[in-house]
Amino acid sequence: MSRLRLKSTGNLGAVLMGEISLRVGIGRDFHRLSDGRALVLCGVTVAESGGCVAHSDGDCAVHALADALLGAAALPAIGRMFPDTDETNRGRNSIGMLGEVIELLAQNHLSVINVDMVIQIERPRLDAFLGKMQNNLAKALGTKAGNIGIKATSAENTGPIGRGEAMEVLCVCLLRLLPEENNG
Ligand SMILES: [Zn+2]
Repeated sequence: MSRLRLKSTGNLGAVLMGEISLRVGIGRDFHRLSDGRALVLCGVTVAESGGCVAHSDGDCAVHALADALLGAAALPAIGRMFPDTDETNRGRNSIGMLGEVIELLAQNHLSVINVDMVIQIERPRLDAFLGKMQNNLAKALGTKAGNIGIKATSAENTGPIGRGEAMEVLCVCLLRLLPEENNG
């Protein structure tokens, strides 16, 4: 495929003709919350307490995103890549793990088109942090902030999320398999 046609990867005709492969992925992460942990989401420390109980820094949003990206590539989940049985992963920075996932995707000739996520947490409200979170993810993924959707929602005081015992993040992503590597 020529350089010129590579630039037109947004062309629906090329997608339909099978010249460009798109890969969709979904990720979901769920954590218990604890007063003894800082709440870190998309690399932003949102609160000094009420964070996720986890072996790593507990960045639930980045974990869901990483699983969506790995899923789109049909690769094993992040828990397999960075097992909690490995002491080197204790307290590990999740944005750093995301960087390794992106590297793995690049090796597989995959690049991110866009990402969309829903963060479900009862408190605190995340509105003031969403811009910074979006920028952090865009930087980590090597894309524009306009390709990163982040929405926050509460559980209306119902269930474990509504009682502030846990949080959940759902994430979908769309990747492009670079044409010269597209073997159908
Ligand atoms: Zn997690």
